[in-house]
Amino acid sequence: MARPQPRVVDPGPYTQPAPPPSDAVVLFDGRDLSQWVTSDSARGPARWTVENGYMQVAAGTGGIETARGFGDVQLHIEWMAPSPATGEGQERGNSGVFLMGRYEVQVLDSYQAETYPDGQAGALYGQYPPLVNASRPPGQWQSYDIIFHRPRFEGARVVRPAVVTVLYNGVLVQDASVLTGPTAHQERPPYAAHPDKLPLGLQDHGYPVRFRNVWVRELE
Ligand code: MG
Repeated sequence: MARPQPRVVDPGPYTQPAPPPSDAVVLFDGRDLSQWVTSDSARGPARWTVENGYMQVAAGTGGIETARGFGDVQLHIEWMAPSPATGEGQERGNSGVFLMGRYEVQVLDSYQAETYPDGQAGALYGQYPPLVNASRPPGQWQSYDIIFHRPRFEGARVVRPAVVTVLYNGVLVQDASVLTGPTAHQERPPYAAHPDKLPLGLQDHGYPVRFRNVWVRELE
């Protein structure tokens, strides 16, 4: 908490959903969770609620992940923190986008709300704070555009770490950040070799965070 807080940047108002480009895989178009399963080993039907064009974390049902796997991607996802805001720090609209189920871009209500810098919205959790805090207030739609290059392994050895770029509400918050390994709470676990394609996950951290307009472009 004693580390410097990222400078606040007003990203301007949300205008409209970014339409999926013609080569995108649409993962959620506002209608159903047919592309998603539970993140546990059962991989059953995702149990988050869908209404009014968004999905919402159904607290306690667990995280969800895509039925299919992805490697290098450009990902667009829109999210909204609960309003009115409740709680402080990490207990305030916490969720997360888990690239390959391992590398978290933090989702958190970070509007006029402090937490440790590498745990706020747009952080690569536990590794990199966002360059700036471009949060909109809770109850407003926000967007992440993420360019992710997966790690490359030769056998058990990582020969190229994962690299993540993030635009938060159109504002650059991660500029080709090089992950040290999977993201974790107060530790930096080393890379462990994994398949070239793995599901994209969304976190149930117990808060009714909403998501919509989720699409990816595969980059490999
Ligand atoms: Mg989280």
